[in-house]
Amino acid sequence: MEDKTILVIEDNELNMKLVRSLLKMSSYVMVEAGDAETGIGLARENKPDLILMDIQLPGMDGLSATKILKADPSLKDTVIIALTSHAMEGDDTKVREAGCDGYITKPIDTRNFLQTVANYVNGPEDAKREAGN
Ligand code: MN
Repeated sequence: MEDKTILVIEDNELNMKLVRSLLKMSSYVMVEAGDAETGIGLARENKPDLILMDIQLPGMDGLSATKILKADPSLKDTVIIALTSHAMEGDDTKVREAGCDGYITKPIDTRNFLQTVANYVNGPEDAKREAGN
């Protein structure tokens, strides 16, 4: 099976480093952007299987970027997961209204991160198989 491509749009270098080290433990191809505009360009170029989208970004925020990506016919089916710091009341609604398919709260739970990503990339059944259950 072809390795899945994950685009990570995150401006915080420490978070990016953490995500990079976690994704390296699996066979994902990782594409990185530090801002929304670059991320949108890389999404159109690479057609990733999953996008991890930080919400607070310099310039355009992650919710606006998600709306743009979901309005793009070639990307509307791409799964976009928001990276939110401390899910606040109403955040869930906000990210879903913007078109996100789910969210992962920061600080990232390193023990569950890969399983969560696999769930979104492959669907729950494949994720179970990958986890060896
Ligand atoms: Mn940020």
